Amino acid sequence: MASCSACGAAIIFGGKTVGDQRFCNDECAQNGLILARARQLSDADVRVFASQIHSGQCPKCSGAGPIDVRTSHQVWSALLFTRWKSTQQIACRRCGIKSQAGDLAISVVAGWWGFPWGLLMTPIQVGRNIFDMALAPNPTQPSPKLLQQARLILAQRSLFAEGADA
Ligand SMILES: [Zn+2]
Ligand SMILES: [Zn+2]
Repeated sequence: MASCSACGAAIIFGGKTVGDQRFCNDECAQNGLILARARQLSDADVRVFASQIHSGQCPKCSGAGPIDVRTSHQVWSALLFTRWKSTQQIACRRCGIKSQAGDLAISVVAGWWGFPWGLLMTPIQVGRNIFDMALAPNPTQPSPKLLQQARLILAQRSLFAEGADA
């Protein structure tokens, strides 16, 4: 059976074929193209672009850097129902801490009220926020996460540029 080249799901019928690759839908086809392009980019190009982001302005508050990937963690529950997620953003440390503190507050207030996942996940998500607030990535150079994001943004841009030419 064919499987999606982007997400790996089995394709039972339909799907989308691009070149010699199969995808389950347009979104996966798009992601697949970006990932394939991302793999072709040279480490040197990615590093230069990541450094530009790192020493540039914060996209959220236009404040000074260093800019890096900041992750905040949230959990909320409603009785038997608990949802948790981690959100990444490219921003300065102040903006990162703002999001982490906001998600921490939401988790403390709304995380507990589900059984059993609310009780289990709330301390984890709260701990992750505290950990990420205290331990920022090295301010002198882009983190591996930023390098990865920079690679994907570059890949997306180069595909977009080709689309505009055609
Ligand atoms: Zn897929
Ligand atoms: Zn900022």
